[in-house]
Amino acid sequence: MVYRWTMTEKVVKTDQEWRDQLSPEQYAVLRRGATERAGTGQYVHVEAAGQYLCAGCGAELFDSSTKYESGSGWPSFYAPADPDSIEKHRDFKMIVPRTEVRCGRCGGHLGHVFEDGPEPTGQRFCINSAALRFAKATPAGAGAGDAETTSPDPPA
Ligand code: FE
Repeated sequence: MVYRWTMTEKVVKTDQEWRDQLSPEQYAVLRRGATERAGTGQYVHVEAAGQYLCAGCGAELFDSSTKYESGSGWPSFYAPADPDSIEKHRDFKMIVPRTEVRCGRCGGHLGHVFEDGPEPTGQRFCINSAALRFAKATPAGAGAGDAETTSPDPPA
């Protein structure tokens, strides 16, 4: 099953530790705030049921039930898995300020949230595939766990 982290269990690593752990693309997005090119991420058009975990720390960030096709070229969700899953920060990198979305557990950059999403929240979480790891839900009755993942991060 997917371990649900609480806000008190922060993950803090040195820059070198993140470099060693992450792929160059994951590092660029999560630790340097890069944005993958639209339409290139592996999860843009995935519709399978499951949970989207942080590629940096394994925290559950989004559930497939809130994923929708926004046409933006990035995986889009209308809500986080839990309000504490993510943190929002004002981003002034562009002329029009945006709201950056970071992992609530490791602080990794995930993407941005905009106010042009669908009901029921009206929000569009525009997230880089490189910041995510998809844990596909197991078929009903297939096992005791509610999801499987190839490389779960053990509790600290
Ligand atoms: Fe994280």
